[in-house]
Amino acid sequence: MSEQVCTHCGSTFGPEELLFQCPKCGGPLEWRDLPRFDPKLIQKNMPGLWRYRPFFPEVLPERPLTLGEGWTPIVHVPKLGDNVLFKLEYVSPTASFKDRGVALVINQLHRFGVSEFADDSSGNAGASMAAYGAMAGMTAHIFSPAYAPKGKIEQIRAFGAELTLVPGPRPEATKAAVAMAEKGVFYASHAWVPVNIVGQQTAAFEVWEQLGGEMPDAVAMPVGQGTLLLGMYQGFKRLLEAKVIDRIPRLIAVQAKKVSPVVQAFEKSLDDVPAVEPDYTIADGMAITRPVRGKAILEAIRESSGTAIAVTEEEIEEARRKLALGGLFVEPTSAAPYAAISRLDIPATEKVLIMLTGSGLKKPDGGK
Ligand SMILES: [Zn+2]
Repeated sequence: MSEQVCTHCGSTFGPEELLFQCPKCGGPLEWRDLPRFDPKLIQKNMPGLWRYRPFFPEVLPERPLTLGEGWTPIVHVPKLGDNVLFKLEYVSPTASFKDRGVALVINQLHRFGVSEFADDSSGNAGASMAAYGAMAGMTAHIFSPAYAPKGKIEQIRAFGAELTLVPGPRPEATKAAVAMAEKGVFYASHAWVPVNIVGQQTAAFEVWEQLGGEMPDAVAMPVGQGTLLLGMYQGFKRLLEAKVIDRIPRLIAVQAKKVSPVVQAFEKSLDDVPAVEPDYTIADGMAITRPVRGKAILEAIRESSGTAIAVTEEEIEEARRKLALGGLFVEPTSAAPYAAISRLDIPATEKVLIMLTGSGLKKPDGGK
């Protein structure tokens, strides 16, 4: 039976407990002892990522509420690099990768009868939580920094969420959401609720299945809270344990130089990620000054023999322009990995997969 384990103090909690953090020490939780991955059990008639339902915690419903999340395309655009593949996570119900995790979170909350929740977000997670909350008939309280892009703000509003724009840097929005949670509203933070990361694992399962088992040598992605990176690492580990792959791709974590706590901790060989000063970057989707699961992020990068790299605002803008001229319209955050791989000496014989996490329509002018 699956259980929730605190990654700080090791306390365990059964699947029937709805928690966003460890009630004993406040540490982040992780689902463990999930059902073994088995290709024969994939439910190919289920929509999107629900084909992997047999590998989720047993508390999730057999008949999920879904907007069609997951099973995003993987494409090769020769003009953008012979050995580069792109997974179009922006082809998701709310146009970002967040839907993978949020779909599981909302189904879990629905199962437990939650009718109201709070979350803080720079935009994409907020839009996703607002959409899935609306579908499930829940009231979503979303706290976003006042500087969040208009496209994301309007999207959150359209789904009928109670939106609060919080002045000041990104951490202020977190403080506001936590204050509301202290009044008794469930804090459905995508960074904290552990089933969110199980949802992100499906990106790894899809890479294996869609590429017919021909795994990429490296996977590059933007890292803010690092839920996609952690999810993919755990997903690849489960494929390895099931002996369907023989190695984990190198994970390349990419951040904006202006807010790069993970890159700085990686370069200094630290075990955890200390906070950095908040700053404004056009890559608003990853402007996190201290990720909740910093230690686990560093472990995943190192155990996969990967790396962490920071790119400048100019490099991000240039990468966004190049991708668009290849037909891929993404937001600045999502363009950062393309900028990063041109700086890494990746041999021409190796294949790199880039996760394009959010649509360009979220921030059509790129943030100028
Ligand atoms: Zn604990």
